[in-house]
Amino acid sequence: MNRLASILDRIDRRGYGAYKDLQGSYDLGTFTLFVDRVQRDPFAPPSLVRVRTKNNRFPPDLYGNPVRRIAFEDFLTRAVEAAIRQVVRGNRGSGGSGRVEIQHPSQAVLPRTSMVVTGDYVEARMAVGLPARGRTVDARAARAVLLDELPEVIRRSLVPGGIDEAGARAHVETVEDARHLRGLLPELGLVAFVADGAILPRESGASDRPLTGGAVPFQSPEELRVTVELPNRGEITGMGIPEGVTLIAGGGFHGKSTLLEALSRSVYDHIPGDGRELVVTREDAVKIRAEDGRSVAGVDISGMIGDLPGGRSTADFSTPNASGSTSQAANIAEALEIGTSLLLVDEDTSATNFMIRDERMRELVRKEPISPFIDLVRPLHANLGVSTIVVVGGVGDYLDVADRVILMEDYRPSDATPRAVEVREKFPPRAPLGEARVRPPEDRRLRSSSIDLRRGKRETARGKGLSTIELGRERVDLTYLEQLVEPGQTEAIARIVGEFVAGTGSRGVRDVVEKALASIEREGLDSLGSFRGHPGQMSLPRAQEVAGAINRIRSLEASTG
Ligand code: ADP
Ligand code: MG
Repeated sequence: MNRLASILDRIDRRGYGAYKDLQGSYDLGTFTLFVDRVQRDPFAPPSLVRVRTKNNRFPPDLYGNPVRRIAFEDFLTRAVEAAIRQVVRGNRGSGGSGRVEIQHPSQAVLPRTSMVVTGDYVEARMAVGLPARGRTVDARAARAVLLDELPEVIRRSLVPGGIDEAGARAHVETVEDARHLRGLLPELGLVAFVADGAILPRESGASDRPLTGGAVPFQSPEELRVTVELPNRGEITGMGIPEGVTLIAGGGFHGKSTLLEALSRSVYDHIPGDGRELVVTREDAVKIRAEDGRSVAGVDISGMIGDLPGGRSTADFSTPNASGSTSQAANIAEALEIGTSLLLVDEDTSATNFMIRDERMRELVRKEPISPFIDLVRPLHANLGVSTIVVVGGVGDYLDVADRVILMEDYRPSDATPRAVEVREKFPPRAPLGEARVRPPEDRRLRSSSIDLRRGKRETARGKGLSTIELGRERVDLTYLEQLVEPGQTEAIARIVGEFVAGTGSRGVRDVVEKALASIEREGLDSLGSFRGHPGQMSLPRAQEVAGAINRIRSLEASTG
């Protein structure tokens, strides 16, 4: 009998706390089981375990470079999840007894803590609800989970022969192609590429899976068609969106927002079958929206919004409760601060008075501090090299400032640029509202003492689901960081704030985020773990979302001065 089985026998029917004796590592033949953290009771979050195979007999080409390794780790995480579904019986008593889990990946392929592939071994990080009857150890059920089900999960997902090797190869090759394609964008003068045949619509507003019935595959208009050569797939064609100002126009319900949404998510790579595998956007693209009610800390929005009522300056603007337009301006200023080459804006989620002001309203309202976005998009590109893709249904004035107009009709794009020029010539040109000023962002400094993790009962910096982080007593709402795609990113952001931001003195916002991500790049995501062993469930966030989260901390004090 192995050591694990004998410990289980010894603690059978004892109080649940006896499971603590399991902490440690066990040689279980083909793999090693590490029991890193044992839950306190059957209703607490499940125990953290790692399983490590004794060698790695997968063909090295599946993980032979950093991109392939991340893709292969992603594939194996999904393979483990599928194997758990097939093999694990689940509920074996009170609370979470008998549950086995691995981090649930979104449709995106991201570096995660769930899986480690090295030349020597494959290691999966999992969680197991150690079985109990009431509040006592159920050793028989524990043996079934740890000594029968877990090894079977491993046989089906972490060793050659268990997995679909052709599927794994397609997975890593697809991701490698997407990375390559995204890397080509700058030299092609493009900000995004949408492959012919891509499926953009999603199953529902609540699901990121592809729409199955009746999705119209993407078909590029000839004028914007680009052919590219990919390392694995070879030649493909699709629509290239050039740098500059691009309008996505069209009637309601013709697929405009769906296209923009696909672009916004395609800063990440997607799994085969997602429909967006070969849709890529500049990796620093930021979706910009109105977000009234958010807090703003010391942001210079004076280029977009002049002095506010009462002579309040907007060069160092703070508020606990931004309006639609000031929030959208702050979102843009913050995106420029952390660094972006592409803004994505949808009329549907914008503040109308930020987007445009028509002639009649200009005549009536003289005291308007806002330079509408329409007057900013050209200087943004000319002065800062920042491109914009903006979805408009109703605001024809944008035709005046666009380099390109993509018209969506029945989910099919066409190049309407020549027609837009004709239309433009029929109407008198719209006078811009004076000189719109866009300046490179200030080096804003944050006072890290304003983020206090100890204000709560105990020191906390943790993620809660996809859209909340808890810092001490404060809950930071990330609902409108639309490019946050999985809870693992949220957890990583919370820990970054805890380790790299809180209590570190006066720091430049961009500087602190860059340093944190550089450290993670060097040391790995595991380095955000709070103890040796299982680091918890994390996925790599972008600098844009890390900064976005910091900027939404209500207690944050920062200033351009
Ligand atoms: P718009 O922003 O132009 O009003 P949406 O992008 O919101 O339109 O799309 C309207 C509806 O059409 C959505 O339910 C969306 O899922 C669906 N849709 C979008 N693109 C496609 C497509 N290529 N094939 C099938 N349905 C689509
Ligand atoms: Mg829309």
